Amino acid sequence: MVTLLLLGISGCRVHPHVHWYKDVWDGWAIPKHSLIGWLIKHEALNTRVKLFPLGLCTTNRCVLCEKEEEGHGHLFGSCDYSSKVAAVLEDWLDIKLSIATGISKTQKKVYRVIRLAFWYAVWMERNNCRINLQLRRHGIVADEIKITVKSRLNHVIPRPILVGDKDWIVNLGFCCT
Ligand SMILES: [Zn+2]
Repeated sequence: MVTLLLLGISGCRVHPHVHWYKDVWDGWAIPKHSLIGWLIKHEALNTRVKLFPLGLCTTNRCVLCEKEEEGHGHLFGSCDYSSKVAAVLEDWLDIKLSIATGISKTQKKVYRVIRLAFWYAVWMERNNCRINLQLRRHGIVADEIKITVKSRLNHVIPRPILVGDKDWIVNLGFCCT
């Protein structure tokens, strides 16, 4: 399953100074999420694909699904577990963000915040599973992401919210007053 939140990881090595800068260092995003996003864009996280050849782990299989090699493209792209988390978030967003036209600047910025929070949560869940050998249900992780994002955006979304964005924002559960 490939969902919208899983897109946009590759390409940074071909065009190292281009458009994804805003995707990661958006002022609305939580800084620690931006940092992990930056590391993902550079494929700099210590995934098992990197650690296994060095003898630092016993397998290169994904911690979350144990089906494929654990590289960046898999963890944040094709992993069954992270895909399920992304699917819950996309149902929540209720917006076709793969289509660049027709969405407002506010919607794009909210999407960036959610995608960074999603990447951060997947990486944290992966680490927790590796260390504690416990993997939580994808719905619990998705709900935590929603709470984190709502809390953040309630502080950073400028008021008053534009009329065109207000219904969508309210449906996501944000406070508009
Ligand atoms: Zn996986």
